[in-house]
Amino acid sequence: MLPQEIIRRKRDGHELSSTEINAFVQGITDQSLTEGQIAAFAMAVYFQGMTLPERVALTTAMRDSGDFLAWPNLPGPILDKHSTGGVGDNLSLMLGPLIAACGGFVPMISGRGLGHTGGTLDKLDSIPGYQTLPSNPLFEKVVREIGVAIIGQTGTLAPADGRFYATRDITATVESIDLITASILAKKLAEGLDALVMDVKLGNGAFMPTYEESRKLAESITHVANGAGVKTTALLTDMNQPLASCAGNAIEVLDAISFLKNENPNPRQLEITLALSAQLLISGGLAPDESSARQQLTTALSSGHAAETFSRMVHALGGPSDLLENPQKHLPLAPHKLAVPAPTSGYLQSAATREIGLAVVTLGGGRTRASDPINPAVGLTGFLPLGSKINVGEPLCHILSETPEHAQTLLPTIQNHFQIGPEPPTPTPLTETIA
Ligand code: URA
Repeated sequence: MLPQEIIRRKRDGHELSSTEINAFVQGITDQSLTEGQIAAFAMAVYFQGMTLPERVALTTAMRDSGDFLAWPNLPGPILDKHSTGGVGDNLSLMLGPLIAACGGFVPMISGRGLGHTGGTLDKLDSIPGYQTLPSNPLFEKVVREIGVAIIGQTGTLAPADGRFYATRDITATVESIDLITASILAKKLAEGLDALVMDVKLGNGAFMPTYEESRKLAESITHVANGAGVKTTALLTDMNQPLASCAGNAIEVLDAISFLKNENPNPRQLEITLALSAQLLISGGLAPDESSARQQLTTALSSGHAAETFSRMVHALGGPSDLLENPQKHLPLAPHKLAVPAPTSGYLQSAATREIGLAVVTLGGGRTRASDPINPAVGLTGFLPLGSKINVGEPLCHILSETPEHAQTLLPTIQNHFQIGPEPPTPTPLTETIA
């Protein structure tokens, strides 16, 4: 089967067979296709789109291009969440242990920060000793014995996606919902899941630019994943402000630990975590309905079981045994803390969430190139929820930086990322269930 014929058929708007798609993905994986051929195929899909059977075939072919994790003889379902990425979004650190505490098994393979969004792996890297790339036997042992292990992607998981994505990234073809669907799901489904929940962010800090696009992506992902045999639901969740009251790396781990210890959890974070986790307990057969799922999750939180599960996971993967008891001792925070004062009094109207994420990158807490090092200690903290009443001079947030000069330089820009007005804003819905 000539690759140029497959590209031509897609270019001309035909539906490709699974045999054609498998052959093309095989060529990506074994390097027999050139970058030019991959780029041409991506552009043809970008313009012509793919039907549901084509998307399922592309996803499963990429899933099967490398390792497939199998979990025989586990006494509970294999569950995971994927998020399109946000600012102050440390939900994975809470959701994984919560699900494990309720009887699920979570082999979570997560990513690094991308653009303005933070990455779970970068956050975990701020824990001294924590191995984000453990050996396969250690990963499996931690999932089996503790119920959750959050680690990074190895080169052997869905390798076709790695090569395909690298070409899309330099040929303006990332923004295809069909290709995004296959790319996300190939990696997630290679984890050998029984059920998945998708957190598709919505709003001015989201990866997808509009409500319609976010909804289309959520629907595409649920249809394809269910078509590939994994029970999948999706929530659209609000990203019109940072989710946690901070954004950075070590600071978000500290925040997750407080959440898990049930120390006055932020209500938005709590609601979205419970909503996503409940979907998983229901899809995995661990709860019959939303209210009993929420009951189990709330008990896992208040009993300390979820916190203990997180602590055991951290220690089993090489981190300190007393992270839960002494988080400040282990997690680095930058030495300079500068308040960003409100320029006027009123109600917090809106936050430029994407720009707030980029401010963390500028502080050194994210990357502009994949090879850039990250400073885990910097970030922003003390965000107020939208609608908060604030007086002139009171802090909108605090900057954590390595030098006082860096914080001073960024202060006016960060101040501009928050708008204050005379009336409270109309709240945006926190979550919307897609399927
Ligand atoms: N994240 C992915 O993993 N793949 C995409 O194509 C886009 C975002």
